Amino acid sequence: MRLISSIAEMQAISKNIKKSEKSIGFVPTMGCLHAGHVSLLEKSAHQNQVNILSIFVNPTQFNEASDFENYPKDIDNDCILAKKSKVDYVFLPTKESLYPDQYCFKISENKESEILEGLYRPDHFTGVLTVVFKLLNIIMPDNLYLGEKDYQQYKLIKNMVSALFLPVEVIACQTIRESDGLAMSSRNRRLSKEERQIAPVLYKYLSQEKTAEEAKSRLEEHNFKIDYLIDLNNRRYAAAWLGKTRLIDNIELIGVRS
Ligand code: AMP
Repeated sequence: MRLISSIAEMQAISKNIKKSEKSIGFVPTMGCLHAGHVSLLEKSAHQNQVNILSIFVNPTQFNEASDFENYPKDIDNDCILAKKSKVDYVFLPTKESLYPDQYCFKISENKESEILEGLYRPDHFTGVLTVVFKLLNIIMPDNLYLGEKDYQQYKLIKNMVSALFLPVEVIACQTIRESDGLAMSSRNRRLSKEERQIAPVLYKYLSQEKTAEEAKSRLEEHNFKIDYLIDLNNRRYAAAWLGKTRLIDNIELIGVRS
């Protein structure tokens, strides 16, 4: 496994891989890897001849400077997990090199990016789409692996790939959960011991309650502060604060409403 931070070097490596007609699987992340990321990496390793992981905490998708600065980092453990997941290259660009234009050029979407997360995090998805577009252009993967944990993000990237005719297949990977149901997330590390014990009820009520309204009431009883809890196109989406930590989750609605 090789660690690459230079964009020029990553481009040269990708070009060579393409020349040899090997397929490239790509998993973009912000690091602090956990079993959710590992499931994407393993799928990519299984379905491709070359497996590339990127770790980049993307400043343009954060709404609060403090959230960006305090985003958890654990590069040593990331490398251990990446190696175990059969990653060939870890791409670690700097923000200066990835934004030579100081973010003058952007990819934005003006429909589905403005609901749910987009309502509470203005311009978040512009940051996400722009960085993914840049990473796809550098790495030129055949297959891109994204988690359903961030379902709205998955849909927007899939729609961008289709709208801009990008030559990559977008593959959705199911949400990996802790044994008590809590969706794995790098941000879970920020939960206090007490909050960590309460956190699984987010998934519990999302899945169990017949209506979004009922799920919302149950969660409020447990001191969750709800940003949104909405049923949309056969999926139930939620974002809620537990103390100072914002958790998001979503489930497919089959079987929830009778
Ligand atoms: P992040 O590092 O949070 O930006 O996530 C990188 C990728 O991993 C995104 O495609 C996420 O949707 C995916 N991911 C994060 N957590 C999970 C999880 N618990 N299960 C499946 N995929 C996940």
